Amino acid sequence: MMSILPQHLHLHRAAPIRHHNHHQRNHRVYCTATNPSKTSPKLEKLVINTAPPKTDDPSLKSTWGHRAWLAAGSTTVLLTLSNSITASIDSHMWVEPILSGVTGYFFSDLATGIYHWGIDNYGDESTPLIGKQAGMALGHHKWPWTIVKREVANNLHALAGGVTVILLPINLIYHDRPLAMAFLGVASGCIMLSQQFHAWAHGTKSKLPPVVVALQDAGILLSPSHHAGHHTPPCKNYCIVSGIWDGFLDKHRVYEGLEMAVFEKFGVRPRSWGEVNSGMVEEMDASPPTSPP
Ligand SMILES: [Zn+2]
Ligand SMILES: [Zn+2]
Repeated sequence: MMSILPQHLHLHRAAPIRHHNHHQRNHRVYCTATNPSKTSPKLEKLVINTAPPKTDDPSLKSTWGHRAWLAAGSTTVLLTLSNSITASIDSHMWVEPILSGVTGYFFSDLATGIYHWGIDNYGDESTPLIGKQAGMALGHHKWPWTIVKREVANNLHALAGGVTVILLPINLIYHDRPLAMAFLGVASGCIMLSQQFHAWAHGTKSKLPPVVVALQDAGILLSPSHHAGHHTPPCKNYCIVSGIWDGFLDKHRVYEGLEMAVFEKFGVRPRSWGEVNSGMVEEMDASPPTSPP
C-alpha cells in the first residue's frame, strides 16, 4: 500500500513547457509514471490545449441558456428556503431549522471541495457529463484571471442546473419538512453561488463590494489569501465557499486517500500526481492577453 503513494511514483519528466507565442500553443505532452510494486510503466497522454481566451472571448460571455439555468436554480433555492419557513411556522420550530441551515452552510463548503478536487484531477473536456466543468477548471488553473472575466451566469449556470434538477423534485416530496428544507435551501444556495465566491477570491479588493471583503476577512466567504494556496503547488485548499474544511482535509490527507482509492480501483492517476505542467499549474505568462493596437 505505502509503496504506491504519490511520492513513490517515479516520474520521467518532460522538459518544462514555456510558451512564447500565443499562436502556437497546442502541445501534446507525454509523461510516464512507473509504479514499482503494482503496475508496469504506463504511458499517459496529456493533451494540453493551451490557447488562452481573450478577455472579451465569447466563451466567457453569458448566453440566454446560461441565464435561464441561473434563474431556474435561483428560483429553486428561494422556493426551498420559502418552504423551510412555511414548514417551520406550521410546526412551531425555529431553533432547529436555523441550526439545520447553518449545518447546510458548513456542508456546502465540504461538498464544493470534493467536487472541485474531482474535476481538477480527473477527466477533461471530452468526459461525459462533467466535461465542460473539467475543461473550465483546467483553463482556470492555466489562466486564473479568466474567472474574473467570466460573466456571472456563464460561471454559475452548471451548478444552477444541477441544483434545479436535483432539488426541484425533492421540494415536491419533502416541502413540509422544515429541517430538510432549511438544510437543502442553504446548502444548495451556497453550492450554486460557490463559483461566485471563488471569482471574488480572485478579484481585486478595491473593486469588490465592501460587504464581500468584510465577509472574506471574517472567514465566512473564501478569502484571496486562503485560496492562493490552491494555485500554488502542491495544490490543496479545494473548498470554495469558506475554505473552513481545508485544514481538516489536508491534515487527515483525505484527498490522498481518495486518490489512492481511485487508483487502486480504476488504475487512474489524479492530475495532481502528474507532470509539473499537466494542467494544475499556472502558465508562466498567465496574465490576460492584451489586444494589439
Ligand atoms: Zn482548482
Ligand atoms: Zn481559483
